[in-house]
Amino acid sequence: MTTIASNLQAVRDAISAAAAEAGRRESEVKLLAVSKTFAPDKLREAYRAGQTSFAESYLQEALDKIAALRDLNIDWHFIGPVQSNKTRAISENFAWVHSVDRLKIAQRLSDQRPAHLPDLQVCLQVNISGEDSKSGVRPDEVSGLAHAIAALPRLTLRGLMAVPAPRDDVAGQRLPFAQLRKLRDELNRQGLLLDTLSMGMSHDFSAAIAEGATIVRIGTAIFGGRQKP
Ligand SMILES: *Cc1c(COP(=O)(O)O)cnc(C)c1O
Repeated sequence: MTTIASNLQAVRDAISAAAAEAGRRESEVKLLAVSKTFAPDKLREAYRAGQTSFAESYLQEALDKIAALRDLNIDWHFIGPVQSNKTRAISENFAWVHSVDRLKIAQRLSDQRPAHLPDLQVCLQVNISGEDSKSGVRPDEVSGLAHAIAALPRLTLRGLMAVPAPRDDVAGQRLPFAQLRKLRDELNRQGLLLDTLSMGMSHDFSAAIAEGATIVRIGTAIFGGRQKP
């Protein structure tokens, strides 16, 4: 077995163990392979091992890979910061965007979504725990923004995404994930229909699954360490 194939198998096994531990079905947790900085042949290798959902953070790099891998049936997720001048290319080339944190960006994505494609699936990125980056909306602003985004015609608001500050202890890892889940549950009590919690990376996906993650975004554990872009 190649390294990527065996890494993928190890990640799948760990997801299935974490789901079992949490009394959840493995099929409730979708594995998103975060392929930023890796060349198309690495994605091909993962694809041959059965991985069909990939996530990218940098638009130009992603567009190059999407072009190079046209012959594969991949569903592409955008997880990086979204600037206004990138919304058109994102709305034309991706199935999902996890990192929406402003209404203006959501409006542009909706306006620019090509008519022949299904609705763009989006998550609202929440700054849940003093993240290093400034990305993400404050928890107290989530409700207003979520209701406004849910009303846009060419987007389907699926749920919430977060990148909590890294922690070594499992209890510390679980806390922000539990907060994100409570926020999602509150929005659903307010009448939204959000089925997605996009949370958990290579170092903390088991804790995220324990708190209800439905999508885990995993790069390093599949492809190995990244060089800085
Ligand atoms: C890079 C990245 C990941 C993957 O992180 P790993 O630690 O390599 O698993 C997940 N989510 C986001 C938003 C990222 O930018």
